Amino acid sequence: MSQDTNKYSPSFAFSLSMKALLHTSAVASFLAIDGNRSLFASRPIKAGQVIDVLPLVSVQDKPTRFTVQTGAEQHIDIGEMWACGNHSCSPSILFDTTRMLVTATRDIKEGEELTFFYPSTEWDMAEPFLCHCGADGCLQHISGARYLQTPVLMRYFLNEHILAMVSARDAQDMESLAMHEGEELGR
Ligand SMILES: [Zn+2]
Repeated sequence: MSQDTNKYSPSFAFSLSMKALLHTSAVASFLAIDGNRSLFASRPIKAGQVIDVLPLVSVQDKPTRFTVQTGAEQHIDIGEMWACGNHSCSPSILFDTTRMLVTATRDIKEGEELTFFYPSTEWDMAEPFLCHCGADGCLQHISGARYLQTPVLMRYFLNEHILAMVSARDAQDMESLAMHEGEELGR
């Protein structure tokens, strides 16, 4: 009997996307005179709140300006709206590529820009740039997690594929350090 009832109740994934659709109206995009589009909160958003399901338009093997990295060699096209999200070294939102959700990193005021930390998803960016976000401790050179030291990266939310690539890099560095020390001792 209870099995029959379960068959007709919405799945978790379905209820999640319905909830997210309601929250999508919390986002407004703004086209600047220079042609760059940015995203803003059209109403207050609470820390940790799910703003949207991260759209999956298509899977790509190379990064473009519309993609977000989701694995060592996997990038997804996230559609026009979220691709307009600018980077900040003090981000207001995050893209969680494991749960495929866009969530608020902190309380966001109405009218505040929605920004995310690009190296939280990108290992080696196709288009590096010089950041002018104005945040305390702005990292300036934004080229992907690959170019940032581990202690710097650990201040931020990082997706699982980035954490795995950081671990692999650090293990390799330790190995070459040990080899170098071995050579020194061998002299
Ligand atoms: Zn910055």
